[in-house]
Amino acid sequence: MSAILLQNGRVIDPSQQMDRVTNLLIDDGRITAYDAQPDGQETIIDASGKIVAPGLIDMHVHLREPGREEDETIATGTAAALAGGFTSIACIPNTDPAIDSQGTVEFIRLQAERADNCNVFVVACVSKNREGKELAEIGQLVEAGAVAFTDDGSPISNPELMRQAFEYCLMFDKPVLNHAEIRELTQRGVMHEGLTSLILGLPGMPVAAEDVMVSRDIALAEATGGRYHLMHVSTGNSVDAVRRAKRRGVRVTTEVTPHHFTLTDECLRSFDSNYKINPPLRGAGHVKGCTDGLIDGTIDVIATDHAPHSQEKKMQELDRAPPGIVGLETALGLVVTRLIEPGHLDWPDALAKMTCNPARILHLNKGTLQLGAGADVTVIDPNLRWRVDPAEFHSKSTNTPFVGWELTGRAEVVIVGGRIKFDRR
Ligand SMILES: [Zn+2]
Ligand SMILES: [Zn+2]
Repeated sequence: MSAILLQNGRVIDPSQQMDRVTNLLIDDGRITAYDAQPDGQETIIDASGKIVAPGLIDMHVHLREPGREEDETIATGTAAALAGGFTSIACIPNTDPAIDSQGTVEFIRLQAERADNCNVFVVACVSKNREGKELAEIGQLVEAGAVAFTDDGSPISNPELMRQAFEYCLMFDKPVLNHAEIRELTQRGVMHEGLTSLILGLPGMPVAAEDVMVSRDIALAEATGGRYHLMHVSTGNSVDAVRRAKRRGVRVTTEVTPHHFTLTDECLRSFDSNYKINPPLRGAGHVKGCTDGLIDGTIDVIATDHAPHSQEKKMQELDRAPPGIVGLETALGLVVTRLIEPGHLDWPDALAKMTCNPARILHLNKGTLQLGAGADVTVIDPNLRWRVDPAEFHSKSTNTPFVGWELTGRAEVVIVGGRIKFDRR
C-alpha cells in the first residue's frame, strides 16, 4: 500500500479541535504525520481549497440485505455510502431474516468484507425477530460484533421490554436506539397531522405519537441508568425533552435526518410518495425546533435513515407506498446547503455530528485524524455546486425527493484504511 500525501487541504478534525491548512501523510493505513513534505514516493492528492475531514460516519442505514436485495444490497449500499463521503456506516436490522442471531451478524460482516467498500458496523435487534415480545440474545450478539440495538422499522412498544433492553445493554455498555412512535396514535397515518393533512384529507400522524414515547424512554433510561439514543427526531417537543433530560444527566443522545431539517409537510401537496417518510415531514415550527437542537448541541448526530425502496413499491398510492427515502448520496450536500451556508452550523460543528459524535455513541474507533488512527479520510469540495441526478446514484434505489435540486458541497476523494476507495476527480 503506497503512502498518500494530502497537500494543502484545510484539515478539520473536531475530535482534536483541529482546523488548519496542512499536509497530511497517510502511510501503512494510518495517519502518520502532519506538515509532511513530499519525498517523491507517495501518491499526491492536491487538496488546495478542499476540506480534509475524518471519514464520515452514518449510524442509521438500511442495507436491505438479506431479504430485499431488489431494493439494495450490502455491495450497492456501501458503494452509495462511499459516493456520499461515508467511510463507516451502521446498518439497521429490519432485514429478512432480521439481524437477531450471531449467524446473521456474521453474514453481514462477511458480505461487507467481500464488497470491500466502506466499514459496516452492525446494529442488532432488541427483540427476537423484531416481534417486540422477547429480548434477543444481547450477549451473544455483542460477542458477534453488534455495536448497538434497535427494532427500528418498528418502535419498541412494550415498556417492560424497553426497560429490560436498557438493563441488558447497560451490562455491555451499548446504547438502545429507538424509533419513537406510539402506533395506536398513528394507525393508517401517511403524513404529519396538521393543517396540511386536514386540507388534503389525508390521515395524519400526530406529534404526540413521537413525544409520548420519547418521554417514556427518557424516564426508563433515567430509572435504569441505560443509554438511550433517539433515532430520527422530528418534533420540536422531542428535541426539547432531550435537551432537558441531558441537563439532568440522563444518558440520552439523538440524531436528525437531512430531510427533517430540510423539508416540511407542505411537500405532500404533490401527493408524491417520495415525501412519505416515517416519522413524517413536520411543519415549519418543528423544522426550526430541529435546527435549534442542532445549533445548541442537543442533537448530537446527523444520520440519513437511508431507506431504499424499488420504484415499483414507491409508485403505489400514498397509503400503500412504503415510507422512507435514500439519503447517503445527498446528505453532505444538504448539510452544506441547508445548515452551513445559511450560517446555522460552522464546518467543525457540522462535521462533529457526522464523525466523532456517532463514533462516541457507538464506541467506534473511528471519526478522528489523530496520529496513529486508521486512515479513514474524506476530501470534500466545499464550494462545488452540483445537481442531484438519481441516474448517477450508486444505490440500487432512486427514491429521493431531491431530484434536480442544486446543492453545494460534495465528497471528492474517500480513503478507507489508507486506500483510495472513491475518487470523483
Ligand atoms: Zn425508524
Ligand atoms: Zn430507519
